[in-house]
Amino acid sequence: MNESTKIIHSIPVDPLTGAISVPIYQTSTYVQEQPGVNKGFDYSRTNNPTRAILERLIAELENGKNGFAFASGLAAIDAVAKILKPGDEVLAVDDIYGGAFRLFTQVYNNFGITIKFVDTTDVSNIERKISDKTKLIWLESPTNPLLKISDIAAIAKLAKSRGCLVCVDNTFATPIIQKPIDLGVDIIIHSATKYLGGHSDLIAGLVVTNSDELGEKIKFIQNSTGGILSPFDSWLVIRGISTLSLRMKEHSNSAAAVANFLVSRPEVDKVYFPGLESHVNHNIAKTQQKYFGGMVSFSLKNDTEENAVKLATSTKLFKLAESLGGTKSLVCSPSTMTHKSIPVESRRASGVVDSLLRLSIGLEDGQDLIDDLEQAFKKL
Ligand SMILES: *Cc1c(COP(=O)(O)O)cnc(C)c1O
Repeated sequence: MNESTKIIHSIPVDPLTGAISVPIYQTSTYVQEQPGVNKGFDYSRTNNPTRAILERLIAELENGKNGFAFASGLAAIDAVAKILKPGDEVLAVDDIYGGAFRLFTQVYNNFGITIKFVDTTDVSNIERKISDKTKLIWLESPTNPLLKISDIAAIAKLAKSRGCLVCVDNTFATPIIQKPIDLGVDIIIHSATKYLGGHSDLIAGLVVTNSDELGEKIKFIQNSTGGILSPFDSWLVIRGISTLSLRMKEHSNSAAAVANFLVSRPEVDKVYFPGLESHVNHNIAKTQQKYFGGMVSFSLKNDTEENAVKLATSTKLFKLAESLGGTKSLVCSPSTMTHKSIPVESRRASGVVDSLLRLSIGLEDGQDLIDDLEQAFKKL
């Protein structure tokens, strides 16, 4: 069966009433017949029928064992970090999401957990840095904003041989494009705020595990720390996922068209899109991804922030905003917005130059997006 069909029918019809839309169980507690005798639910922090459907759904989509829904992507990352103990080390992709960087370096470092960063696009870099203390490898692929791709299967194999877990932040790819558990990883997290929700109208996070043992740990942490997703937001994510397959195809097609257009522009210096043959990691992207995703970044030959801001504020369809994965196309200037807190020199050295712009390609017609960029280029 085609995956789009499978997803739509993995969302159950309500067995009680026949409601074709998942009911929102807006309740805190559940009546018990006898102490401890209930219908599988006793308190909504622990379990809620609407959230449970989302948790089952994301586990199925990622070919995992268990799913867990949290109040944000960062709460999901935080739950995974809580598996660790003082003295443990994390080896992470060097251009990790800024919020995850802050969490590990400014919160977990206070609890004796250290994080080291490495360019994970070359497996030998990990081989060199991994130690007996390394308990978790943290990957993003594609990364933000340069869309670097790491060989997930090769890294998972290395980690397994060293008794270390691998977690992939699959936010940019989504399970439609890439299934990290099939590539051998142990844990997946999502900021469902982005493509899974898909409409820029909620904040949510998900964790998927590849084993019941890890699932029990995350379940314990979820219930003990309480950062759960509400029934209504769970319902919004379920609704988002029902159209995910269609949307990812369309985002990816338009992104490829926009990337090719950018390559043809004389004002543009570098274009970052994993679908371009010129992308450094194109070959590995081709083997582990079904499509190339909806994100495109590019820099300008006249490499100044003013130039980038002029372009970003001259577009009409692309709205200037952080975040990604919604129906409306967005443009952001990482050097002045998402990556502002990174010291200038290390930011520039990593490729996030002053004129870099990141596009989240929405669901508008692809040619309309190209026309919008074209009129903005004329204003430079
Ligand atoms: C947005 C994002 C997060 C954080 O998710 P929130 O829902 O904003 O907490 C984590 N990882 C990636 C790749 C993201 O884009």
